[in-house]
Amino acid sequence: MDLKFSAHVEDFRREVRHWFETQFPKDIIEKYKAGQPLATADVRRSEMALGAKGWLASAWPKEHGGPGWSIEEQYVFDEELERAGVPTVTPMGVVYVGPVIYTFGSEAQKQRWLPGIRDGSNGWAQGYSEPGAGSDLASLEFSAELKDGTYTLNGHKIWTSAAQHADWIFLLARTSRREKKQEGISFICCPMGAPGLTVKPIVTIDGAHVLNEVLFDNVKVPEDNRIGEEGKGWTYSQYLLGFERTSYARIGGKRAMLRYVRALATAGSPGTNERLIDDPGFAMRLAEAEIAVDGLEMTVFRILSAVAAGGTPGDAASTVKILATETHQQITELFLDAAGPHVGHRGPSSGTTPRDVATYFAGRAQSIYGGTNEIQKTIIARKVLGL
Ligand SMILES: Cc1cc2nc3c(=O)[nH]c(=O)nc-3n(C[C@H](O)[C@H](O)[C@H](O)COP(=O)(O)OP(=O)(O)OC[C@H]3O[C@@H](n4cnc5c(N)ncnc54)[C@H](O)[C@@H]3O)c2cc1C
Repeated sequence: MDLKFSAHVEDFRREVRHWFETQFPKDIIEKYKAGQPLATADVRRSEMALGAKGWLASAWPKEHGGPGWSIEEQYVFDEELERAGVPTVTPMGVVYVGPVIYTFGSEAQKQRWLPGIRDGSNGWAQGYSEPGAGSDLASLEFSAELKDGTYTLNGHKIWTSAAQHADWIFLLARTSRREKKQEGISFICCPMGAPGLTVKPIVTIDGAHVLNEVLFDNVKVPEDNRIGEEGKGWTYSQYLLGFERTSYARIGGKRAMLRYVRALATAGSPGTNERLIDDPGFAMRLAEAEIAVDGLEMTVFRILSAVAAGGTPGDAASTVKILATETHQQITELFLDAAGPHVGHRGPSSGTTPRDVATYFAGRAQSIYGGTNEIQKTIIARKVLGL
């Protein structure tokens, strides 16, 4: 098996790297690398820079305005984006709802929403979870009542990432209570500026504001804002989760972090000059993490090949979700060991930054979002292994 990329893909890598180094806003990269919070204007500017180049919706097919890249090109692009220190693209628009709109939406909906997602001018948020519905998502209570072509939305969404930066939110809403609970759910889009909609920040233990509560009090949206058929929202939501869970792989970021850990462990510690890499236990853990990333990479390539052939990530995406989470946590733990007492301080003795520490803490939450790892194991047992 030849695991090297072709000369064409390596040329493509050079082109992407050059563009990031010369054309992408430098101040945003510096702010992001320093671990400073990005304002909505920074997020928009960052994503619109990619959008203007036609590179924001990097995995979309050409027919929907994407670059139509091969799997290898998409992979190399992601790797270079991480390498350059460009902020991670907010996935709710391009990665999550975009494919749902171009697969299940009407022509009018495609015309209305895809351009703003593709060029980065519109941010989106994901309204799935509720205070009483997380792992058991199908028991959600958020209601959408249809009368004379208008839905009235009432309910409480929670843990809504990046809602403060969003222009739109896609929601799972109960439109009927007659059938089994999955069948009474519809997939509806709502502008964040709609009267009756309130965003309340949730600040997490690390001091960051990513999460929010979103409250709906008689919010009105036209029936046209429902994607696909009424009562089929569950099917669309699971299709979306396949893309979401596969997107957690972020191989480029993991490889960059591994290189970083190896460099820290190979440098002698100040004063004693002892090298952590000479500790056989540490060296073995580092090698195990590197091998785990190789395994994850192969799994992702398999899933992306299925998508390129017209399939969907399907339930195998649950495997990626678990592997991606566990390797991410493995690597960030190695990082903390390698950085030692200087962790989080920028300086010649460690070379680390506060964002590295934030990455460690954020990695804990990955076991929870996108459906907890326990729930992914149940999906694999039931749907992949047929147990
Ligand atoms: C950082 C972060 C960002 C998020 N962003 C979003 C977002 O943008 N939009 C959104 O809609 N949601 C978001 N979420 C919410 C996330 O999807 C839910 O937190 C998650 O699905 C778990 O639901 P819960 O919090 O209600 O926990 P619960 O469902 O109450 O689970 C609590 C614990 O019980 C376990 N458990 C529950 N049921 C079972 C079972 N049947 N078998 C075995 N174990 C079980 C779970 O694994 C978990 O450990 C985010 C969460 C986090 C942490």
